[in-house]
Amino acid sequence: MSTKTIAGISRPGTPHFVGDGFRVHNFIPGTSTMQEMDPFIMLDYNSRYSFAPSEIPRGVGVHPHKGFETVTIAYRGKVEHADSTGSGGVINEGDVQWMTAAKGILHKEFHEKEWSKKGGDFQMVQLWVNLPARYKKSDPKYQNLRNTDMQKVALPGNGGEIEIIAGEYNGHKGSASTFSPINVFNAKLKKGAEATFNFPAHYTTAILLVEGSAKVNGTDIVPQDHFAMFNRDGETFTIEAVEDAVVLVLSGEPLQEPIAAHGPFVMNTRQELVEAFDEFNQGKFGYLED
Ligand code: MN
Repeated sequence: MSTKTIAGISRPGTPHFVGDGFRVHNFIPGTSTMQEMDPFIMLDYNSRYSFAPSEIPRGVGVHPHKGFETVTIAYRGKVEHADSTGSGGVINEGDVQWMTAAKGILHKEFHEKEWSKKGGDFQMVQLWVNLPARYKKSDPKYQNLRNTDMQKVALPGNGGEIEIIAGEYNGHKGSASTFSPINVFNAKLKKGAEATFNFPAHYTTAILLVEGSAKVNGTDIVPQDHFAMFNRDGETFTIEAVEDAVVLVLSGEPLQEPIAAHGPFVMNTRQELVEAFDEFNQGKFGYLED
């Protein structure tokens, strides 16, 4: 097997607010296109940020999604959500919400009420995963992946662990069900520990330094809050923690289907986008109270 090398390292750009509750740096599409990042179509990163206490929870009100999945990974703080299928709940620290919008959903995302009253450090990732064309019109669903239920693989010598959100690491499988081959891990590495990752060369692969900094393939330093994209040149790479680190590792097989995207709708053709807007305007995504 040959080494998968780093193509580029991006620093966190100027943050913007999504609603009033998510202060994010956009890494995908960022400097790449959706096609280059296929099947990952968006990644917003709320780097560690302290929110003042608020009696009225901050967040994003009712809005639609269609044609893909939203994956919310909570590192610090808590998010409360509700959607037009009647699902809802709280994403606690360490938990992941994997929501399949598919044929269309309305939802809202706010800081959890009690957390909001106290305020504090908030840190979160929202990743959008594209759906293969044949699943874009399937029913919405929702997976609540609790941290306590996640598969964790210990590294030798108390070096930390690989938390598997989706996909497979060294023969251990994560609990999320996905519509195409996707790996999403949190590599929680102690200072000096090293982990090796293997993915097919043609997969789209990237890492985000959520905590601490790391050295990739023994040479490239990726600082905290930076995002590194890999080339499609090999299968294997190593991550060594320069200090205690949490590294979000993403790798997925490209769908290689046409993308027609506008705002919260990601379809395959222009015509399907027009249909998505029509359906939304006609109330076909259901109803959700503000
Ligand atoms: Mn949303």
